[in-house]
Amino acid sequence: MNETHCHICGSTDFEERLVEYIYRRGGEYLVVQNVPCEVCLHCGERYYKGEVLLNIERRFKAIHERHAKPQSQRLIPIEVYA
Ligand SMILES: [Zn+2]
Repeated sequence: MNETHCHICGSTDFEERLVEYIYRRGGEYLVVQNVPCEVCLHCGERYYKGEVLLNIERRFKAIHERHAKPQSQRLIPIEVYA
């Protein structure tokens, strides 16, 4: 078996977790909850499977092209730091 190393810190300690993923493209956002990923226990870097990212991208596209409705929607406050 190949041992996986973190690309950031080289650690081999990972844990599978469900996290919140914020997808952003062209000023549009999609927040996806309960996304499975491997988290490096040393530096906190998250690793997602290609298939998972592809599903999120597809979902983003469907929602922003109005083919699908999101499960819920929220107004997000935006500020410029000055
Ligand atoms: Zn790491």
